[in-house]
Amino acid sequence: MQILRIVFILLLAISMQVKAQQSTLFPKGEKAANVHHVGTVYLNELSEADSVFSYSTSLATFEPGARLDWHMHPGGQILMITQGVGYYQEKGKARQTVRQGEIIKCPPGVEHWHGATPDRTFGYLATSPTQKGKTIWFKRVTDEEYGSAKE
Ligand code: MN
Repeated sequence: MQILRIVFILLLAISMQVKAQQSTLFPKGEKAANVHHVGTVYLNELSEADSVFSYSTSLATFEPGARLDWHMHPGGQILMITQGVGYYQEKGKARQTVRQGEIIKCPPGVEHWHGATPDRTFGYLATSPTQKGKTIWFKRVTDEEYGSAKE
């Protein structure tokens, strides 16, 4: 079963990289309430976890300047970037600039944040194992954290 899951995720990732050339793969969904982020973020829950597939898959689209709060995923998370340019940072490490076509693996239990750059829209497909629990949210990303790290 674990092998099948890995194969499925790899095929999904390859498929998304090929299709990343296209501008709108899925509708961007509804504007998310500003609970765990600043700026404007749209979410489209494409596939919810169920009794067969113990992970959810969703599309997130960030307008320029939008970013999530610091958080961690007990089961980890894979981000497949479908659009634009964004930032990804793990606690204690330098902020990275990430672009359409790239894959980010957020390790289980590692505090991090992701979001758009100040002047570019940013979108990704996120697949998140759910069996170890939901996302745990921490503090807001400060303006200094958002803007001060080296490229
Ligand atoms: Mn995350």
